[in-house]
Formats: sequence, structure tokens, C-alpha cells
Amino acid sequence: MTDPATQAPTIGVLSLQGAFREHIQALERLGAVAVDVRRRRQLEGLDGLVIPGGESTTIGKLMVSYHMLDEVRRLGEEGLPIFGTCAGLVMLAQEVCEGDQPLLGLMDICARRNAFGRQVKSFETGLDIPAIGAEPLHGVFIRAPWIESAGSGVEVLASHEGHGVAARQGNLLVTAFHPELTDDLRLHELFLGMVRGPA
Ligand code: GLN
Repeated sequence: MTDPATQAPTIGVLSLQGAFREHIQALERLGAVAVDVRRRRQLEGLDGLVIPGGESTTIGKLMVSYHMLDEVRRLGEEGLPIFGTCAGLVMLAQEVCEGDQPLLGLMDICARRNAFGRQVKSFETGLDIPAIGAEPLHGVFIRAPWIESAGSGVEVLASHEGHGVAARQGNLLVTAFHPELTDDLRLHELFLGMVRGPA
């Protein structure tokens, strides 16, 4: 719940597996109250939720075991702002291009996992993201997915090698890379803007 004194929003960071600590630090640096979410009841009263990078098959299985998959899907459908990075992008996708795994299926995209090739496990590159300003953002990609296809309601915010690597659809924001691993917090700021809603 937004703190009435400071107006700081409370953002949950799904902390079942993966790179959640860096998201908590990034959100706190921007003045939000960040809480790690490990159990279903901790989803109550949040103003927004971050699903971090990690291994989407593991995150999905844990969400099923902890009865969180259906609940996060319900909250997302109700309009809770959700920011998914890397494995979090995969979790939010309607479908993955190959295989079958538990997904939230909230965003009208098809995600291709480990899309940049097995040899290229990680790389860093400058990305043009007009939605956050003219200065390129340093994107850190680690066994990253890309957006293979997107429905007409999806706004692709950035591309690399012709494939979508950041996108927004209503209350949902996704990146294929890890913005929490750099000091550039503009995407977290964009997400907090979605949480606050139109001024
Ligand atoms: N390859 C992972 C997956 O598909 C994502 C990697 C990451 O989050 N850094 O789930």
C-alpha cells in the first residue's frame, strides 16, 4: 500500500529464485518501499510487482508449488503493474516458442528463450529506448530471450538485431535484459511511473 506519509509505493519483488536483490536495491534507490515476496500472502496490498531474471522453468514450478501462479495472474488481469526482466519476460508471455512450461500468459507476446544462441551466453550493448530518453541504455543480456512476435496491443520499446527486447502492454512492462545490474535506473523509473498512474 502507498505509504500515506511519504507517498512511497510498495513494490513486491518475487524472490523465489534469481536476481531479486538488485531489483530491491534499485527500487529503494528510487524511493519505493521494496519487499521480497516468497509466499502467496505477501502478494496482498502491493502497488506493483517485479519478476526478476533467473530460470523461468524453476520460477514457474515454484510459483505453482506455492500457489502463486494463479494469484499473480489474477492480480495482473485486475491491473496490478508487473515488471518482468529476462526470465520475468518469459513468465509474463502468452507462450514460449518451444516447449511447455508454467507461464502467467498475461502479455500478448511469444518469447523465444535463450534466443541469442548457445555460444553467446551473455553480452552487453547500447540500446535506443525513446520512451526513456535519447541517451542509449546499457543493456546486459544473460542467456536472454527475445520477443519473437507481439500482438497489436503491445508497444515494443527497444529492439536488438531486429528482435524486440523491451515492451509494454497496459500495466505490464518487460525487458529481455537486466536493467537492475547497471546504475541506469530509467526503466525502473518508467515502471514506477506506471505504478503511480497518470499525474
Ligand atoms: N534463460 C533464462 C530463461 O529462459 C533466462 C535467463 C535470465 O533470466 N538471465 O528462463
